[in-house]
Amino acid sequence: MKLGSILIVGGGIGGLTAAIALRRKGYPVEIIEKDADWTVYGVGIIQQFNVLRAMASLDLIDAYLDKAFGFDRTALFAPDGSQIAAFDTPRLAGPDYPSNAGIKRTDLQRVLADRAQELGAMVRLGLTVDQMADDGTCVDVAFSDGSTGRYDIVIGADGVYSQTRAQILPDAPAPRYTGQWVWRYNMTKPSDLDGIHVYYGRCNAGLVPLSEDLMYIFLLSQEEPGMKLAVEGSAAAMRARAAGAAPRIAELTGQITDDAGVVGRPLEVIFLEGDWHKGRVVLLGDAVHGATPHLAQGAGMAIEDAIVLAEELETADTADAAFTAYRARRFKRAEFIATNSVRLGDAQMGKIEPIDAGEVNRQTIALVAEPI
Ligand SMILES: Cc1cc2nc3c(=O)[nH]c(=O)nc-3n(C[C@H](O)[C@H](O)[C@H](O)COP(=O)(O)OP(=O)(O)OC[C@H]3O[C@@H](n4cnc5c(N)ncnc54)[C@H](O)[C@@H]3O)c2cc1C
Repeated sequence: MKLGSILIVGGGIGGLTAAIALRRKGYPVEIIEKDADWTVYGVGIIQQFNVLRAMASLDLIDAYLDKAFGFDRTALFAPDGSQIAAFDTPRLAGPDYPSNAGIKRTDLQRVLADRAQELGAMVRLGLTVDQMADDGTCVDVAFSDGSTGRYDIVIGADGVYSQTRAQILPDAPAPRYTGQWVWRYNMTKPSDLDGIHVYYGRCNAGLVPLSEDLMYIFLLSQEEPGMKLAVEGSAAAMRARAAGAAPRIAELTGQITDDAGVVGRPLEVIFLEGDWHKGRVVLLGDAVHGATPHLAQGAGMAIEDAIVLAEELETADTADAAFTAYRARRFKRAEFIATNSVRLGDAQMGKIEPIDAGEVNRQTIALVAEPI
């Protein structure tokens, strides 16, 4: 369909990917981002084979892998350090590219933001939407800086606490805290770490390579709702959460010494069972399906949403038809990730019966390897 103007609310992973996918189809795109400094916190992110396939489909794979560390293998270990499962995942970007990658969030943001802007997406920072009025043909938007605009469609890619969602679907469920925090810290990568290593047990933890000499360590912990983490003392707090970890993890946690390097976050989730759009405004990424990181697919789902949405907008006759087709293509996969990520965390906290994490990972790999 023809679209003369598209507003994307949120310049994160999903919003930027949408801008790239839409600009490649020739659509005019404006992005607004509420953070005036466009900052991204400094740890890394796991990106699996479906993300590398997406990067290849956007002609971004080389620029992306220049900043990333590629690998083919993910291994799961029991608390005593014995391996319980290992997966050699497919090379969906092509035989010359690795299956998966670890990348610093700042680098991922840079690669996506540079490409979106090179392709002509306009970016305005330090801005939010105050009001939207959809008259059935266009959406009139009043921005927080007093400016206004009129757009053919609006894409809400503004994360788990999406203001766009609240504006169009005020009765949608609110995000909820699962009961777990994840703690992350960058450190020197041991030379034998050839992929993601996940350790289960009293302390669920893992190692993710980011470059030849850098990795991040993550730990999951169960915390009371409302817990706050001060910067001062956060390294000691993270080390304390590693009590009972597998020997490999326990040995590395002594290196967690810099309070400023600790990134600790509560896990908050949402999944919209109902509509993902209203009128000419549609949502993507964490705004509709914010998952926990247990399957390391949240960003992957946002990236795939963006590509599918751009494809459907190109072929549909109306915005409503495009948005409906987009949700239909995305629902099953996003629901599987959202539901099973939460189940893995609930099992770790003893809220539900133990589940076979290896089997859930196997099912996830099979599902996300399917074409989008
Ligand atoms: C601890 C943790 C670890 C994770 N690890 C992984 C992983 O290893 N692999 C993986 O695939 N996923 C992971 N995820 C999930 C992943 O980070 C998210 O799924 C992904 O960032 C979602 O992208 P998004 O664009 O939808 O939202 P976001 O990345 O949250 O981007 C939203 C953007 O919108 C902006 N914004 C917010 N409100 C407004 C507003 N009102 N107006 C304008 N702009 C606004 C924000 O500033 C932000 O830039 C993890 C998540 C967490 C919490």
